[in-house]
Amino acid sequence: MLIFKQQKALRAYLAYQKGTIAFVPTMGALHEGHLSLVKAAGALADICVCSIFVNPVQFNDPDDFKKYPKTIAADILALTHAGCDVLYLPDVSDIYPEGTKTLPHYNLGYLEQVLEGASRPGHFQGVCAVVDRLLQYVQPQYLLLGQKDYQQCLVIQQLLQQVPLHRNIRLHFYPTVRESDGLAMSSRNLRLTPAQRTNASALYRALLQIKAQLQPGSLETLAKAAGDYMENHGFKVDYISFADARNLALVSEWDGKTPLIVLAAAYMGDVRLIDNLLLHTPDTL
Ligand code: AMP
Repeated sequence: MLIFKQQKALRAYLAYQKGTIAFVPTMGALHEGHLSLVKAAGALADICVCSIFVNPVQFNDPDDFKKYPKTIAADILALTHAGCDVLYLPDVSDIYPEGTKTLPHYNLGYLEQVLEGASRPGHFQGVCAVVDRLLQYVQPQYLLLGQKDYQQCLVIQQLLQQVPLHRNIRLHFYPTVRESDGLAMSSRNLRLTPAQRTNASALYRALLQIKAQLQPGSLETLAKAAGDYMENHGFKVDYISFADARNLALVSEWDGKTPLIVLAAAYMGDVRLIDNLLLHTPDTL
């Protein structure tokens, strides 16, 4: 695996390669969820490019940014074993040579006003700022993302439609990889104490309970029961919301037909975890 710290060298190298490129952007502290994307990239294209960059402009909470786990030596080893060909490992000045004060504004509309958008102001603008640049530098044919960050998948879909240079990139979404007790793998799990880690699987169990009890009609009781269950396991719930899986329009009364997803965010101590579960996916989705 080749490692580039500067976009100039990365671009020069990639410009001379023949074959297709599949790209997996990450913030490092890699786990099997990330590596599932890297392996899928290897199967999709001739060259797998991965990036590790903890993007300061997508953190609305400076403490979260400061405490974001970093395990770069282990990440390099894991990427090598997973078959990654190229790692782009920039610092902030290589991604944002002109600084971060005046970044472009992306038209994300409703998608940045709900759920993660509402709870983390500016987060998706920051995500688009970095993904836009990474795509300019890597110019892949394929971009691979995890459904664990479902709203981010829809935001980036919108970004690709908005920026002419990225319009032909094929976007692939991959299922959430979980620990054996169901907890969605996340770099932030490393920040949980052993007791918090044990309790944290209540988030997925709450989503499974919702799926098991889902019926057309009001969804309020289901959300309330799931919230109570999580709070009893030490979570402070930010939101448990139902939405149309195509556009995240919130759903409070389900008609039994609309493609439905439940999305949740909650704090375990000072660690914010998110997860989601598709509840109803007709063939049309
Ligand atoms: P991150 O490093 O958290 O920015 O994630 C980088 C990519 O990995 C994003 O596309 C995430 O959605 C994806 N990802 C993170 N966690 C998981 C997981 N548990 N399963 C599958 N993909 C994941």
